[in-house]
Amino acid sequence: MIKKRVYTFGNGKAEGRADMRNLLGGKGANLSEMNLIGVPVPPGFTITTEVCTEYNTIGKDKVVELIKEDVEKAVSHLETIMKAKFGDKDNPLLVSVRSGARVSMPGMMDTVLNLGMNDEAVIGIAKKSGNERFAWDSYRRFIQMYGGVVLGMKPESKEDIDPFEEIMEHLKEVKNIENDNEFSVADLKDLVVKFKAAVKKKTGQDFPTNPWEQLWGAVCAVFDSWMNPRAKYYRAMNQFPEEWGTAVNVQAMVFGNMGQNSGTGVAFTRDAGTGENIFNGEYLIDAQGEDVVSGVRTPQQITKEGSIRWAKLAEVSESDRKSKFPSLEEAMPSAYKELFDTQHKLEEYFTDMQDLEFTIQDGKLWMLQTRNGKRTAAAMVKIAMDLLREGKIDEKATILRQEPNKLEELLHLVFDKKAIKKAKVIAKGLPASPGAATGQVVFHADETKKYPVTILVRIETSPEDLEGMDIARGILTARGGMTSHAAVVARGMGKCCVSGAGACKINYKDRSFTANGKVIKDGDWISLNGTTGEVYDGKIATIKPELSGDFGELMKLADKYRRMKIRTNAETERDAKQAIAFGAEGVGLCRTEHMFFEGVRIMAMREMILADDEAGRRKALLKLLPIQRKDFSGIFEAMAGLPVTIRLLDPPLHEFVPQEEANQIEMAKEMGISPEKVRQKVEDLHEFNPMLGHRGCRLGNTYPEITEMQARAIIESALDLKKKGVIVLPEIMIPLVGTVKELRMQETIVRETIETVFAERKESIEYMLGTMIEVPRAALVADQIAESAEFFSFGTNDLTQMTFGYSRDDAGKFLPIYIEKGILKTDPFQVLDQEGVGILIKMAVEKGRSTRKKLKVGICGEHGGEPSSVEFCHRVGMDYVSCSPFRVPIARLAAAQAALR
Ligand code: PEP
Ligand code: MG
Repeated sequence: MIKKRVYTFGNGKAEGRADMRNLLGGKGANLSEMNLIGVPVPPGFTITTEVCTEYNTIGKDKVVELIKEDVEKAVSHLETIMKAKFGDKDNPLLVSVRSGARVSMPGMMDTVLNLGMNDEAVIGIAKKSGNERFAWDSYRRFIQMYGGVVLGMKPESKEDIDPFEEIMEHLKEVKNIENDNEFSVADLKDLVVKFKAAVKKKTGQDFPTNPWEQLWGAVCAVFDSWMNPRAKYYRAMNQFPEEWGTAVNVQAMVFGNMGQNSGTGVAFTRDAGTGENIFNGEYLIDAQGEDVVSGVRTPQQITKEGSIRWAKLAEVSESDRKSKFPSLEEAMPSAYKELFDTQHKLEEYFTDMQDLEFTIQDGKLWMLQTRNGKRTAAAMVKIAMDLLREGKIDEKATILRQEPNKLEELLHLVFDKKAIKKAKVIAKGLPASPGAATGQVVFHADETKKYPVTILVRIETSPEDLEGMDIARGILTARGGMTSHAAVVARGMGKCCVSGAGACKINYKDRSFTANGKVIKDGDWISLNGTTGEVYDGKIATIKPELSGDFGELMKLADKYRRMKIRTNAETERDAKQAIAFGAEGVGLCRTEHMFFEGVRIMAMREMILADDEAGRRKALLKLLPIQRKDFSGIFEAMAGLPVTIRLLDPPLHEFVPQEEANQIEMAKEMGISPEKVRQKVEDLHEFNPMLGHRGCRLGNTYPEITEMQARAIIESALDLKKKGVIVLPEIMIPLVGTVKELRMQETIVRETIETVFAERKESIEYMLGTMIEVPRAALVADQIAESAEFFSFGTNDLTQMTFGYSRDDAGKFLPIYIEKGILKTDPFQVLDQEGVGILIKMAVEKGRSTRKKLKVGICGEHGGEPSSVEFCHRVGMDYVSCSPFRVPIARLAAAQAALR
C-alpha cells in the first residue's frame, strides 16, 4: 500500500481523527476531529510527521517531489470548498501554514498567515471583500510573518529590534499615531513597499510573489524548524525523541481583521491558573492571531464577568471598560453564544480543559485549534478532581493525568508572579532542590544568622555546614551536581538550593562573588529558583501556594491504586514528621553520619578519629552512644509502627576533620592537643579517591567498635521505646558491601552486640539486618549477598557513580555538555539509567530472591523520588521506594501511575 502523506479535512469531513496525533500532530489530529463532530473549522490539510522524518533523511528536494501531487490535490480540494483559487488574481485563496508536533512545542516555527498574497491578489481581495484597508493590512502582515519565519528576518539577539517593527515604529512616529490599526490604506501600501525592500536588502532576493513558491517555502521552513536549536533544546529538556517529527497544517484563511464585526482570540474552558470551572480568555476586534499574544494592543476579555474582574485589577473605570474594552459577550453577543456552546462541547468531548483559538470573520465563528490546556499544578489537581466529581472521567484517568513532578510546585514557596517578571537572572545552575528563596548573601555557614534571612553561598558545602544550611533560607553552590552534598541535604530539608552554578566566581576572602560581570557582596540580596536553577539579583517577593482539599483527595486515590510503599530518607525527627505529614510509610534511609556534626557530637567524633588505639576509640564512642540513642528515639517515635532503616556509618573519616589550617588550630585548642597532631591526623586520613576508599562497611570492618556502638544505640533505643508501648521496627543496614564476607563480618558484630544487649536488658525485639546494593559487584553476586541480607536497598547514587565511572561530585563539569551533545539523554544521577544501571538492579533483585524468596527490596538513592525511576522500581518488583520528605507525594502518585500503566 502506498503511504498516505497528506490528510484533508473540511465541511464536516476528515481523513484523520483525534487518535492519530502521532501521525498528524496534536493540532492536525484535533482539527480533523473537530470537523467530524460538527465544530466549524476552516478546511485544510495536514502533511504528516513521517514526512518530516523523511525530509531529514532523504532531503528537501526528494520530499517535495514525493508529496507534490498530493499537496496540489489537497489545495484543489480547498479551492472547491472555498470557491476560490490559489494564485488567482480576482478570487484568490489565501492559506495559513502552521507546525504541529504530537506534543505542543514552543521552540518551533510560528504561524504564517495570509499566504498566497502578492501585488495582484491584494487587489482581488480588496475587491472581493470591499475592504481595501483589510486587504493591504493582510498583505503587510504576510510579508512580515513570512519574512520573519521563512526568510530568517527575525532579530538576531534580544537587544536587536525586529526590522519590520522598526519600519512600522518609524512610520507611526512620522504619522503621529499609536496603534497599528490607525494606519491608513496609503500607509499600509507604503509599508508593503518598505517591507519588500527590507527583505531584498537583508536576503539579496526579491520577496517571492508566486504562491506555490511561497507555500513550499513555508512547508519546508516548518520541517527545518524541527531541527532548530530552540526545538532541539526543548526536546532535550523534555526527553522527546527526534524521530517524532512535526506535521504541517495548511488551512484556508479566515479573517479576524475584516473590520469591527471580526476578531480573534484565545480561550480556556477552565481557569488554567486556579483550575476553577470558569470559561475565560482574551480577544481583539479587527485583528489577526498574533496581535493577541504580541502585546501590541491590550487584549479584551471574552466574558463580561472576566472583563469586570480585569478592569478592577487594571484600574479601568466601568465606563471606560464598556466603551473601550468591552467583552466579547457584550460586543458580539451571538458569536459569543456560539463560542460558549462550542467550548462546552469541546470540553465535554475531549473530557479535559481545552485551550482554544478562534477567529470571527464578519460575525461568523471559526475554531482554529483545540488542545488540552497547559496549567499550573494547582489547576492540574483541581480540574482532574472536579472532572472526576462531575462524572466525566474515572479514578484511573484522574491519576494518570497528573504530572507527578509538577506537584512540587504545590509544596514549596514560589516567586510572586509580578515580581519575578522584573527580576534579572545573573547566573544559572542545577535545579538542585525546588522552591524559591530570597535573602542576604553570606559566605560561611556560621554566619547564616548575621541577617534575618540569608542565602548561603559556597563553592561547595560539606557536612560541617549543616547547621548553617538549616538556618539559611536558600543555598547556592558554584560546584557540585544533583547528588552533591548541598543538593541531597537541601532536598531532605525541603530547602531551596541551586548547585553547580559555575558562572559564580566566589571569593571567600573578600566575601563576594561575581556572576557574569555582576559583583555581589556579603549582605547583598539575591534570589534563587531551585525549580529552574536560576539565580536572580535582588530581593523578590515569595508566596506560599495553598494546598487544597483536592490535593489530599488525590493522594488518597493514588494510595488506593499503588502497590509499592513509599518511605522517606530522614535523619532528624523533624524531617521524619514532615515526611509523615506527606504520607510516608517509614524511613528507607537514615544516614547516621549526618548526626555527627552538631555541637558536642563532632568533638566526640573527632576524639574517636584522633585516638591512637581501640581503647581510645571506645572511650570516645561511649560519649556518642547516648547521643545516637536519643537521635534514633526521636525518629522511631515519629515513625511508630512503621519500619525505620538505619544505615551504619558510611563516609570517609576525613569528612569529620577540618581541612583548613585555621580550623585545625581551633580544633586543637578545643581538644587540648597540639595543632601538629591534628595536622598529622588529617594528613593520614587523606585519600586520593575517598569515594572509593576507606568508607562504608570498610570502616566498620576495620573499626568494629563503631559498628558495635551503633548497633547498641539502635537496639537500646528501640527497647526503651518498647517499654513505653511504642512499636519500633528497626532495620539495620550495612553500606557499601561488595562481597558477602564483608557483610557477614558486619552481621556477626551487629548480631553479637544485639544479643549482648538483649541479655543485659532481659528483653528482646524483632529487627532486620540487610544491606545496600550500591557497589556493582554486590549486584553481580546478589544471590550470595542475600544469604546474609534480609533486605536490599539500592543505593543508586553510588551504583550510578560506580557503573558509569562518573564521580558524583565532579560530573557537573561534563554532564551538561554530554547532554547538550546528545551523548546522554538525561543526567543519570537524576533519572535512573534503566538501560545500564537498571540491568544491574533487575538482575540483583532476581538473584537476591532466588536465594531468599521473601527478600524485601527497596531503593534509597535520589532516584527514589523521580517518577520514571519509580515506575522502573515498580516494574522490577521492588517493595518500596524511599525519597526526601518533599518528594513523598510525588512518589505516591508515580507509584500509582506505575501500577495503572
Ligand atoms: C546511594 O549511594 O544511593 C545512597 C543512598 O547513599 P549515599 O548517597 O549516602 O552515598
Ligand atoms: Mg551510597
